[in-house]
Order: sequence, then C-alpha cells, then structure tokens
Amino acid sequence: MSAQPPATAESKRRHQVVVIGSGFGGLNAAKALKHADVDVKLIAKTTHHLFQPLLYQVATGIISEGEIAPATRVILRRQKNAQVLLGDVTKIDLKNQKVTSELLGHTYVTPYDTLVIAAGAGQSYFGNDHFAEFAPGMKTIDDALELRARILSAFEQAERSSDPIRREKLLTFTVVGAGPTGVEMAGQIAELADHTLEGTFRHIDSTKARVILLDAAPSVLPPMGEKLGRKAAARLEKMGVEIQLNAMVTNVDRNGLTVRDADGTTRRIESACKVWSAGVSASPLGKQLADQTSVELDRAGRVKVLPDLTIPGHPNAFVIGDMAYVDGVPGMAQGAIQGGKYAASCIKSELKGADPNEREPFQYFDKGSMATVSRYSAVAKIGPLEFGGIIAWFAWLVLHLVYLVGFKTKITTLLSWTVTFIGRNRGQLTVTEQQAFARTRIEQLEEIAATVQSEAAS
Ligand SMILES: Cc1cc2nc3c(=O)[nH]c(=O)nc-3n(C[C@H](O)[C@H](O)[C@H](O)COP(=O)(O)OP(=O)(O)OC[C@H]3O[C@@H](n4cnc5c(N)ncnc54)[C@H](O)[C@@H]3O)c2cc1C
Repeated sequence: MSAQPPATAESKRRHQVVVIGSGFGGLNAAKALKHADVDVKLIAKTTHHLFQPLLYQVATGIISEGEIAPATRVILRRQKNAQVLLGDVTKIDLKNQKVTSELLGHTYVTPYDTLVIAAGAGQSYFGNDHFAEFAPGMKTIDDALELRARILSAFEQAERSSDPIRREKLLTFTVVGAGPTGVEMAGQIAELADHTLEGTFRHIDSTKARVILLDAAPSVLPPMGEKLGRKAAARLEKMGVEIQLNAMVTNVDRNGLTVRDADGTTRRIESACKVWSAGVSASPLGKQLADQTSVELDRAGRVKVLPDLTIPGHPNAFVIGDMAYVDGVPGMAQGAIQGGKYAASCIKSELKGADPNEREPFQYFDKGSMATVSRYSAVAKIGPLEFGGIIAWFAWLVLHLVYLVGFKTKITTLLSWTVTFIGRNRGQLTVTEQQAFARTRIEQLEEIAATVQSEAAS
C-alpha cells in the first residue's frame, strides 16, 4: 500500500478537502473552493466530468462522447489549489479521516480534514442484476456507446437476415422505464429509424421498426405530473412508439423480455435490443457510511443526511447529490450542484471562524424540470408553469447549452444539434467492435481472475 506523495510545506498548513466524484456535485464543490485557503483533492473513478442528461444523444448518434465528458483536470487546470486524482474509492474511514482509493492494483490513502462525498448513483435492476447483460442502463459513457452499438447493429443484422421472425426481433426495440431517460431514448430511437436511417437499407425498411416503451407504473413521466405525462405520451404515440403501462418486466434475456400485465397475465416480447432506464441505486459507499455511523439509508441506498448535508456525528463529512436523501430534493443535476456549492460555502465560512453547529440548513431552489420527446417537442415544469411543444424544446436546448461545461463543448454541441435537428443526419453513427463487446469481455476476464484468485487462496 502506498501513501499519497508527501505534502508540501505549504499544503501541510492548509485545510485538506477531499472530494469524491467529478459529477455535478463533486465538480461544483471543488470549483466553489477556488479562492479558499484549502487544498482540494478530487478523487474520481473516471477522468471526465459527465453531463448525464445528454447521454441518450450519445447513445443515438447525435453527439459524440467528448461533447458531454470533458476532462476534469482540464476544467480545473487554472484552479491551483485543486488536484485531480484518478481512482476508485473503496473505503471511507470516518473515524481516522482517511479515504482509500485503488488504481490498477495500487492502493492510495488520502487523509482529509473535510470530506465531500458525491459518488452519485448507478442503475438499479431491483435485485435482478443479471438483466444488465441483456439490457444495459444509461449511466456512463460506456453504457451509451454500448447501446449505440446495439441499436445500430440490430438494424445491420436485420438487413442480412432472411428469417422474417428473426428480422422482427431485431427490429423491435424495447425501453424499460418511462421516466425522462426512457421517454428520450424511445423518442430518439424512433427518430433514428424514421428519419436518419430511412432509405439507407435495401432489404429492410427501417421505418417499420417497432419501438416499445414499457413501465410498471400507470403513467408516463410520473415526476412531471399527469398533464405533461399525457402530452409526452401523445407525442410519442404520434411518432409510432408503442406505450405499454402497468406492464411489469419480470425477466430479460438475450432474445427478449417477459412482461406481467395488471391483470396478472404474462406475455413475451421478442426484442434483440433492450434499454433499461427503470431505477437508480445510490453508490455502495453509502452502505459503508451507514455501517460506521447511525445514519440510515433509504430504499435506493441514499444516505439520509442531516439538514446541513452531513452525517450524524461527523460535521466534516458532507454527502451530496444523488447519494444523499433530502426531503424535497430530487435526484437531479440541480440538487447536486446546489449541494456542492452549499458544502463549499460551509467550509469557507468555518475557515473564517464560523461555528459548524450553527450552520443554516441546506435549502434547495427548484429551477424546474424538463424532458425532450422528439425534435421540436419537449415538456417542461417550472414552478406552477407546465408547458410542452416547441417552446419547451427551445427552453430545454438553451438550458442544456448553458450547463454544458466549456465554451468549445457548447459550440460543437450546437453544431451537432443543428445537423441533426434541421436536417436528418447524425454525425456519430460510428460503431466499433470494442464498443459492442469490450465491456462484456472485460467483465468475463474479471470473473475469471476472481475465480483464479479464490482457487489459489483455497
Ligand atoms: C441518463 C440520465 C439523464 C438525466 N437527465 C437529467 C436531466 O435532464 N436533468 C437533470 O437535472 N438531471 C438529470 N439526470 C440526473 C443527474 O445527472 C444527476 O442527478 C446528477 O448527475 C447527480 O450528480 P452527482 O454529482 O450526485 O453524481 P454523478 O453526476 O453521477 O457523479 C458521480 C461521480 O462519482 C464518481 N464515482 C462514483 N463512485 C466512485 C468511487 N467509488 N470512487 C471514485 N469516484 C466515484 C463518478 O465517476 C462520477 O464522477 C440524469 C441522469 C441520467 C443518468
């Protein structure tokens, strides 16, 4: 086990802040400490800051992964008090104020005075993790690229198939979960089939592809309310998306899904390409915190933090963003951004002598929520205002451009959107064998390595 490189004489004197995660929460916490007299060590298991709301556009070939995942160290280049460290945090020791992270077989221990934990959430398969192999979720760049490969290669295989039953299976795309991500994915697969790929095949007609959006709940976009849910559903149906509600997916395999309807009957959908956007589960680091303290977790594994976003008995350990459960704060980018800024403001005031026991509680400012359905159509809910259509779509466009990190990223994204939304083309339809198969192979290698290790140990 190797320790971090020795601290400099200057950094020894300074308050050490360790931030876990380079997502919306972690990055904003680190950035808000730019002028503070602290050393910030941001440890994350990816080298980039990921703008998750646009992952579905990477998966459907509208934009490239680089446009939504700028390198964190480049973003923080000018912030001299911040150091970006690549590593998978495996242990948080609250008592001894240390964080352990791993990078390619090396272990590093980083001490802290204040800790900001923003490790986000992963996909939840509600206890059926084996579904993941056949229905990837949408949480990472790897997920999006793998899905792009699966979607496009289903069309390619259908073009070569002379078996009508197999062709039908290949041209049936299922999206599980009718929340914002599911709605966006279903809409974009339909547009890809109906517009971008139209006329590009000779044996199949891509516009005949079936896109099915399923949910166990009785409505589309439940967090956005009945009216907007109905609007989004109507638009999707107009585009040919089949919406199946009260439909509980009970099994997923290579060839399709098993669905149980509200009346208890079970049926099968043959579908080669499946997307899972049905549930989230907070980072397993939350469980470690619960094991060390009296803090509770909710059903999604989120840490039930105190009103100042800290863990009981540990006022120097903040948990923010998708990892934290705070009543009234949704698992959305704004919750994480505002949480990150709040933690930084507490750190800064306390460096100036403020008492941690007298912190103002975290207050979330609801800026609203939006989801796109297709080009020129979105739904938006901002305070009491609920609206849909082209105005909501433009509002969505502007807002996402504002929040994308980096000027160059904004320009290239705008250019890609112009190509896709004004014309029919998409600039990112490249699929590589690595995208389609590498992750499965890596997982198999990891399983083999683990078996070899356990056999050697026994
Ligand atoms: C497909 C999709 C679409 C979305 N659309 C919207 C939207 O339209 N609007 C909206 O407001 N919100 C949206 N969200 C939600 C929003 O993206 C999240 O609420 C937000 O990203 C949460 O920020 P976070 O910092 O808590 O976590 P994340 O942004 O997930 O960041 C977590 C960070 O922690 C790192 N990490 C995780 N585990 C470890 C570990 N063990 N060691 C080291 N690092 C670790 C990760 O690499 C990452 O850098 C969407 C989410 C998804 C998945």
